[in-house]
Amino acid sequence: MNIYRQHTDLFEFDLLKCLRTDYYHNTCSKCIDICPENAFIFDRGKLRLDENRCKNCAVCVGVCPSEALSVNFFNPNGFILSLKEEKVTLSCKKNTPCLSVFSSQNFISLALRKDFVSCNLSHCEECELNKDNKTFESIAQRIEEANRFLAEIGTLKEIKVEAEEIKSERRALFKKLFNSAKELAGEGIDVKELANVRNRIPIKNIILKNSIKKEIQNFKNTQISTDYSFLSNKEISYDLCNNCGDCVKFCPTDALFYSKDSTSIWYQNGKCIACGICNDICEPKAITNKDDLDLIEFAFDRGKELISHTLEICNECKTPFPYKGGELICERCKSFVNDFGDIFKIAADIE
Ligand code: SF4
Ligand code: SF4
Repeated sequence: MNIYRQHTDLFEFDLLKCLRTDYYHNTCSKCIDICPENAFIFDRGKLRLDENRCKNCAVCVGVCPSEALSVNFFNPNGFILSLKEEKVTLSCKKNTPCLSVFSSQNFISLALRKDFVSCNLSHCEECELNKDNKTFESIAQRIEEANRFLAEIGTLKEIKVEAEEIKSERRALFKKLFNSAKELAGEGIDVKELANVRNRIPIKNIILKNSIKKEIQNFKNTQISTDYSFLSNKEISYDLCNNCGDCVKFCPTDALFYSKDSTSIWYQNGKCIACGICNDICEPKAITNKDDLDLIEFAFDRGKELISHTLEICNECKTPFPYKGGELICERCKSFVNDFGDIFKIAADIE
């Protein structure tokens, strides 16, 4: 039994991909908030799935920022890559499970790749999965976020919303698993690489970046705001950073990383999933979010140096520390002397 994977016959929760497993204090609760069956629970500080409550509806799949949740009968990424038609209407009565299986990134990728995309939401408000209107609102929000993004980059593309009821055509539904290695390989996504535990970049983000690369020549703006749930752009304050390395250690996607000589921290916003763990974990609060982002940097995974330190050896503990002028003594030793200096003086006086 794999204790890091919980599943029913059709649904799987990969705990190793959950942000709450990455960092205990992370506050993501998107799956808990949207699940109509209250199937997610906290058990001894860890998020768990109550397999008896889960009804395999797939409503939570599209909200998870790290793709920790999946159903084995429908893969939204594979579905997008396998679509041949240029005119696409997504509907739970026709070709997909609940439209909540799609993320904002999925909606944007679809719009960029196709001539026409619409979502039929005519059944959502009355649906049994729409407890307290949460599912409908969440789908509508993701479509709105996708359209806001498409408008900001200056394309004429958008996701249309249809409210006219359509007849159920579910006979043809889910014949194909839509997640074959062939579809991913055609997109330049290395399936073997995906098996690597360190590779935590969600496939929906890779497909989004590929979609942007294909269409970027038609964008009016490539400098855009970071006011989207899936985008972030970081900076690090030289004055505040003490080079402890926690942000690099805890970043789930290796978006933050050290240079070979460990003197500087680099960042690729194309790998960042905006989880906020680095902001939260940084004790001196040296990491802040920028308001804008360059889509060329994002889509082509360009890295940039956020901070560079001069390392010197501390005269007290003989370990390297980021030197910012003055005495050759590290912050830890400095505060130790400040906190306990008097005690040592008293001890010396007694002797
Ligand atoms: S939405 Fe995903 S990352 Fe967030 S708590 Fe649920 S499983 Fe974890
Ligand atoms: S850089 Fe920060 S916000 Fe981005 S993925 Fe890494 S830890 Fe999360």
